[in-house]
Amino acid sequence: MKKIVIVGGVAGGASCAARLRRLDENAEITILERGANVSFANCGLPYHIGGIIEERDKLLLHTPSSLWNRFRIKALVNTTAMSIDRHKKSVTVRQIDANGMEKVHDLEYDFLILSPGANPIVLNIPGKNLPGVFSLRSLEDMDGIKDFIQAQSVKSAVVVGAGFIGIEVAENLVHRGIKTHIVEKTEQLMPLLDPEIAAYLHVKMQDHGINLHCGLGATAIEQTHSGLKVTLDNGSQLEGQLVIMAVGVLPEVDLARRADLALGALGGIKTDSQMRTSDPFIFAVGDAVEVRDLVSSLQAKIALAGPANRQGRLVADVISGRNVQYRGALGSNILKAFDLSIAGVGLSEKQAKRLKIPHLVAHVVSNSHATYYPGAEQLLIKGVFSPEGNLLGAQAVGKAGIDKRIDVLATAIFAKLNVEDLQYLDLAYAPPYSSAKDPVNHLATLASGVISGDHPVVSIQDLKQELEHGTNLLLDVRNLNEYQRGTIAGAVLIPVNELRDRLHEIPKDKPIIVFCQVGMRGYIATRILLQNGYKVKNLMGGYSLYNTVTQASSRKV
Ligand code: FAD
Repeated sequence: MKKIVIVGGVAGGASCAARLRRLDENAEITILERGANVSFANCGLPYHIGGIIEERDKLLLHTPSSLWNRFRIKALVNTTAMSIDRHKKSVTVRQIDANGMEKVHDLEYDFLILSPGANPIVLNIPGKNLPGVFSLRSLEDMDGIKDFIQAQSVKSAVVVGAGFIGIEVAENLVHRGIKTHIVEKTEQLMPLLDPEIAAYLHVKMQDHGINLHCGLGATAIEQTHSGLKVTLDNGSQLEGQLVIMAVGVLPEVDLARRADLALGALGGIKTDSQMRTSDPFIFAVGDAVEVRDLVSSLQAKIALAGPANRQGRLVADVISGRNVQYRGALGSNILKAFDLSIAGVGLSEKQAKRLKIPHLVAHVVSNSHATYYPGAEQLLIKGVFSPEGNLLGAQAVGKAGIDKRIDVLATAIFAKLNVEDLQYLDLAYAPPYSSAKDPVNHLATLASGVISGDHPVVSIQDLKQELEHGTNLLLDVRNLNEYQRGTIAGAVLIPVNELRDRLHEIPKDKPIIVFCQVGMRGYIATRILLQNGYKVKNLMGGYSLYNTVTQASSRKV
């Protein structure tokens, strides 16, 4: 009978324990969980604060008694693994019982699994411990925030940090009618994203009354007679009764470090391809570990629930004698911000640049389904490709159909599909769901044209630079109405349908940048001009992307 001890009873730990039991009816499986709950839905916490998930109990996927009844797994809550004696193969445990009495004892193991997660980073600034300043990781944190909002009748809040948790919390505070500021040290919300994708989020958050303070850090928090005051590094001050710190997480590695387990260069627990640490009897999974990034092959810290679950399951398989390997992670992610969905997978353009990985990008503005069927919503997909046409990463933003496109693209990266494959990928279609040419096919077609030279393009990031050279002719090929509603400064209007007849108006000695609303008419114009001997590039994403990026930057605080 194997004795298996698991530290941490949530995403990675609980999935490992359940899989272990399914593979081995005889193993003695014990989960040690420092908090009062096991197997809770941390990803749902922001939505209970906002009242979208009304019942708190819905967040409890299991309790110690349900784990015992169904799996015969012993889950010890309020129980902290204090230290590991690798020589004796035992863990020293401190348990607080229902009467608050403390008991310290040792637990022996044949295999130990560490799934301790990651700690929210708390900025080391004056006032960080004041009442009303919270992080959000556990059910207890969530209860604290909810109780505080209720007890103080909170009407205003400052969220520091605009990653996933910061954005989700801000949205949920707004749902509760709380006037919310977001402070973000980098120039954009969701620093993971490329800036033109984040621009949609900026506009959406501001449309919902959230005040954005990007490019600014919080330097101090003070108590005032009416609540809290957050000082920013430009000297400005924001009032809020509640402050949520959501500036990222750090792997919880204290226990591993004290046990002399090897850590990686990024500070996470080092593991091999079977999630084994430097001790063959100790495994580690989830937010606490470093994994291989499947695209760059570099080590990465990916604090997301999917990888934690899959790694937990894999460790159970390995301990049960199955020869499986963890291939690495893509960091596939998705975020809801009001009616907007934003998703990403693999490398962003920013990352590709930073890592000096040769790449090209393609932006496609398309529709979630056939436009003649009611309810179609525009979406933007960006692909990052190698010069040979291998997909390295993608991001997508819009109101509908974002999850499915990013999941197809994640599958494509995992399966190493290239632009050629993606153009011919046979995806399900009926008008309420997609178009005969799905936006994923469309993205691949565009990328393929870019690679072959059939479709020379300019991205929104490069447009400014190209225009600054001053040698380009900027050609708006939309119709007069669209032009009159707004265009790019300096653009000349020649609607695409008139282009063939008005070629004599276009000088041949100047490079041309054409644009339309989303890129499609621009593509047609590009083909006409190319075949008539002009040097031309099409602005990907067209005026709609240009307009969103311009709106976002003009409204920046
Ligand atoms: P956790 O699930 O954090 O579990 C670790 C547990 O170990 C903790 O309960 C901790 O108390 C316990 N522990 C630590 N040290 C000890 C010790 N020494 N002894 C005993 N117990 C110990 N991911 C997504 O993919 N999508 C989302 O939408 C999403 N939303 C999120 C929203 C919030 C508010 C939060 C906090 C996280 C969210 N995540 C999301 C991240 C996701 O929850 C984590 O990636 C995942 O839970 C990591 O699993 P884990 O097992 O490594 O750690």
